Amino acid sequence: MRYINLDHLKLPEGWQVRADAAVADGPGKIDDHSDVWRDLKRPLKELSHNKCYYCEIIQERSDGAVDHFRPKSKYPWSAFSPSNYRFACTFCNSVRTDAQNGKSGGKGNTFPLLDETKRATCFDEEADESPILLDPGKPHEPGFIDFDETGGAIPTHSEEAHAGRYRRATESIRLYHLDHADLVDKRKTLAVSIKRKFAAADRLFPQTESGNADIDNSFSDHVRSLANCISEGAELSAFARRILAGHRDVLWVENLLRSA
Ligand SMILES: [Zn+2]
Repeated sequence: MRYINLDHLKLPEGWQVRADAAVADGPGKIDDHSDVWRDLKRPLKELSHNKCYYCEIIQERSDGAVDHFRPKSKYPWSAFSPSNYRFACTFCNSVRTDAQNGKSGGKGNTFPLLDETKRATCFDEEADESPILLDPGKPHEPGFIDFDETGGAIPTHSEEAHAGRYRRATESIRLYHLDHADLVDKRKTLAVSIKRKFAAADRLFPQTESGNADIDNSFSDHVRSLANCISEGAELSAFARRILAGHRDVLWVENLLRSA
């Protein structure tokens, strides 16, 4: 997961008028106007470089969906609010069971709160809620999820020191299905590739000041390839950054993490 700035979402011409009309039609007819949020799928998807906001997998062949972060069944007043939309893949958005490990995941209509008595009954009360699910629309929240080198998603904070953040990360990993076996495998494969690229570049680094252009170019190619892995548009870029950060004691890696 990485931060998606929804302020940059471009609404198609005339969209707000259609959304207002859908709201005016009343909460009982929300699903009759599903075309309204579906019409934002493309701009939402473009914001994340075609990646699911939750798992960072590029959705090329699958369509993905517009997920209502606050489910429209529980928060009908936010059904047509673009700030409530997240572009999501089927694994993160729909409830399903992983055939390989038998674990269930997928957000569905779930929206747990740290304090269920504070559940909003209108838009203004949403600000008083403390949602458990981590929100890719908030810049500080994706960082609550960390990864290990085998591709697993884990909470960044310890249960002892930060019980609330630990719980939010643990529940989010489960509900967004970030521990799905295919996803863990993909991360693991990426980790191997990053480590190889790092090793190749690091072998060349001591010779890069010798005036040999071939060595300089070869080093640059490896570093450029690593920069691509951690760039905003790359699949699983948060994980890639995490793996590379394992070598941040190396000067050129620290510089790369700072600049890319
Ligand atoms: Zn996903």
